Amino acid sequence: MPYDTQPVASHFIDGEYVEDTAGEISEVIYPATGEVIAKVHAATPAIVDKALAAAERAQKEWAAMSGTERGRVLRRAADIMRERNHDLSVLETYDTGKPMSETTIADATSGADALEYFGGLAASLTGEHIPLAGGDFVYTRRQALGVCVGIGAWNYPTQIACWKGAPALACGNTMVFKPSEVTPLCALKVAEILIEAGAPNGVYNVVQGMGAVGASLVTDPRVTKVSLTGSVPTGKKVYAAAAAEMKHVTMELGGKSPMIVFDDADIESAISGAINGNFYSTGQVCSNGTRVFVQKGIKEKFLARLAERMGDAVIGDPMEMETTIGPMSSERQLNIVEGYIAKGKEEGARLVKGGNRIEKDGYWIEPTLFADVTDDMTIAREEIFGPVLAVLDFDTEEEVMERANATEFGLAAGVFTQDLTRAHRVVAGFEAGTCYINTYNLAPVEAPFGGVKASGVGRENSKEAINHYSEVKTVYVSMNPCEAPF
Ligand code: NDP
Repeated sequence: MPYDTQPVASHFIDGEYVEDTAGEISEVIYPATGEVIAKVHAATPAIVDKALAAAERAQKEWAAMSGTERGRVLRRAADIMRERNHDLSVLETYDTGKPMSETTIADATSGADALEYFGGLAASLTGEHIPLAGGDFVYTRRQALGVCVGIGAWNYPTQIACWKGAPALACGNTMVFKPSEVTPLCALKVAEILIEAGAPNGVYNVVQGMGAVGASLVTDPRVTKVSLTGSVPTGKKVYAAAAAEMKHVTMELGGKSPMIVFDDADIESAISGAINGNFYSTGQVCSNGTRVFVQKGIKEKFLARLAERMGDAVIGDPMEMETTIGPMSSERQLNIVEGYIAKGKEEGARLVKGGNRIEKDGYWIEPTLFADVTDDMTIAREEIFGPVLAVLDFDTEEEVMERANATEFGLAAGVFTQDLTRAHRVVAGFEAGTCYINTYNLAPVEAPFGGVKASGVGRENSKEAINHYSEVKTVYVSMNPCEAPF
């Protein structure tokens, strides 16, 4: 192993690495080979307590600093992340199996964008002055929530740690972050970098563990807000637990997003959208457009050209820059994807390309294309979270809109057409939080990101995120004598 992937210790609390060997050990596996690359201990109750106590203590100091000072720390952290992008990308590749061609441009860099963006906003977070009759007025104070908990999925460990941490910290909150047990390594680096950039000890802490550790964080009375990136079933549990104590939540959950390709679309561009929306990160992206509705007139042409372009995918060593498809992130996820491919065949979908496990060490599967998929098939209804693209066909706009929205999910949706008015009409009709016209799956920090329906609550990124990491206090100021009826 050319890189030392074993962290100094399992957790990062109050500005330093901390170990508690009483916690259950979990092995971190490099998905490309199946090798064990590190071992971490799950947080014991003592570790969880230590992290929350540190975050609670640090929050007062951090919130008392000016927004300019907090912003400076975040922007310094962004600079450090960019300087170390290569090493952080290698670690991300070990943690997730995603190829370096992706991790060098979409992970630490995306995390750095969030730190820079929210670092820039921190100084301008203010309340309002609201004039009233008789010279009275109201002013509002935008205040931090307190101690926030972040819980991450395994597909974007660095990005998720930053997308939650950056807006939380900009508003004067502190954070305890629990990465997915599958990918525990990258968030530790984010914590290290924030402290190195000048964040006071305890402002950003990382504890390891499985769902039970997450659950103990969510219910702790010191915690005022929980932000989860994960599946819908976990989201429902976490939301319910947080609601019992009236805590704030952000839920970034799963999807089964539609992508509609009308027969006037630029076909190469639509195929690029379908590739980006199904095979990036080996299909392990929540906003993927996994139901590709293609208008009947262009269906066979679309399928033939898509299958041809899928032949150009480079499946191989994730550390090689030319590789474009890596392994699944875990054996469990590989088995889930294989199960869905078997279901697709069994229920009568036409397998156009791929569909097989690749027989070598690690968790490899071919990018897979199904055609003639119908709305009732399992692969058209359930989130697969793997490289399985389902093409459905349609006749009219009215019909396809109804079918596109007929799902419990509402994370993203896309349309490819040259017809300007149709494009805007279609996105207005989508029941989805993030929509795309003639592109797919971009998530710049400047734009709100999140879902409707079962796909989530709240928004990450952009100025919107500030509303989810702060609250407004109203102060009524009377300039007149206080009157009473008796
Ligand atoms: P899970 O829902 O299984 O887990 C998400 C996180 O929650 C993990 O850290 C997990 O711990 C933790 N967790 C599990 N149970 C509980 C609980 N009861 N209380 C608190 N925390 C808990 O999702 P995956 O990690 O499998 O990630 C894949 C899912 O994430 C997909 O459905 C995908 O759509 C969604 N996702 C959504 C995104 C979005 O922005 N909308 C982005 C990326 C992914 P552990 O796993 O260690 O046990």
